[in-house]
Amino acid sequence: MSRTHPGRFHIAIPGPTNIPERILNAMHISSEDQRNPEIPNLTIPLYKDVKKVFKSEKGSVFLFPGSGTGAWESAIINTMSPNEKVLIYRYGQFSHLWADMFKRLGLDAEVVEREWGTGTPPEEVEKTLKNDTDHKIKVVCVTQNETATGVTSNVEDVRKAMDAANHPALLFVDGVSSIASIDFRMDEWKVDCAISGSQKGFMLPSGMAIMCVSPKALEAHKKAELKRCYYSWEDQIATNKDGYFPYTPQIPMLRALQESCNMIFEEGLENVFKRHHRIAEGVRKAILEGWQLKLCAKDPYWYSDTVSAIVVPEDKDAKQVLSTAFNKYHLSLGAGLTEVAGKVFRIGHLGDLNELQASAFINGAEMAMIDSGINVKPGSGIAAASEYWRKALENDAKVQSISNKEVA
Ligand SMILES: *Cc1c(COP(=O)(O)O)cnc(C)c1O
Repeated sequence: MSRTHPGRFHIAIPGPTNIPERILNAMHISSEDQRNPEIPNLTIPLYKDVKKVFKSEKGSVFLFPGSGTGAWESAIINTMSPNEKVLIYRYGQFSHLWADMFKRLGLDAEVVEREWGTGTPPEEVEKTLKNDTDHKIKVVCVTQNETATGVTSNVEDVRKAMDAANHPALLFVDGVSSIASIDFRMDEWKVDCAISGSQKGFMLPSGMAIMCVSPKALEAHKKAELKRCYYSWEDQIATNKDGYFPYTPQIPMLRALQESCNMIFEEGLENVFKRHHRIAEGVRKAILEGWQLKLCAKDPYWYSDTVSAIVVPEDKDAKQVLSTAFNKYHLSLGAGLTEVAGKVFRIGHLGDLNELQASAFINGAEMAMIDSGINVKPGSGIAAASEYWRKALENDAKVQSISNKEVA
């Protein structure tokens, strides 16, 4: 971004998210020899810390140069054989692309259409798996947070449904826009491949595929017959155990990821989730109570704590809101993708963010909407959000001081 305007350009998209100064500083290093004997001092503790973010003790972490999409591919080619069956629900651009990838890689994807604004329905998963008596379905996929529509699916409920059906399928979860922002429990929910990327909750630039895989997925890997090379797990397993990589790693990104984990643990992982929920609730107050507009997410069960997709009135164009916000107010809002293009715009509220930054998003979106002829009351968004945040922060501060006293 050329600096033709003073002050901060606000990024209110659901990734890439803001990169904190500490992470920028951690990346700002000269080249290091990737085979030097000190590299394991960086990588071995890093794997442990990344596993903590996934809430996994049993899992194995893989870090590939790539992005979330690369981690999708790695999960598929390392665990599956040609024409094997996968169950996936399609309810937004990201679940769509993932389903499409299964097909393009030669798998038999049973893609179930769901209304955009909803997510993976646990009760239907249970029914489908119970009917699959000869266990043709090898993988069940959940996009934990559908970034296109601002919908969070309940992975725990899906796991319960799989257990209720007593079905042995692997569980794959796309957590690209949820892991490190919304609660995720790899081991407890028996997730087999958890997929993430660097530029969302982890607050890094894009460029790294971050994934955690279960022992069961590693077993499946031994029998998987899809062709693979660069994204293969075996070469990683062979070198990662000593703290190295099969090919040149992005050392500045590894150092940045370590700093990201440090920041997450200093705040406390649960506090990170609470902060995301609190900021999201305030944004939702602005949308629903202040502006009296609708979310794309159909009901509170699906509300996402990392991104909100706002439906503009039918005779208005969300693209105009986006361009006005960008050009006039120096604010990037998220666009509506494919089926909801022009119908929604998105506010991403994840990563390195606090209430006052989110206030700027609300104010910028509100001004851009009014400029675009959308009938919202000036100041109504921030009035609703700030009323909520004042009280929520006060309650959180009380809880904090009580727990501090208990410690003292
Ligand atoms: C961003 C995103 C992706 C794609 O990740 P890239 O890093 O752009 O490859 C996949 N799934 C979800 C849910 C996302 O939000």
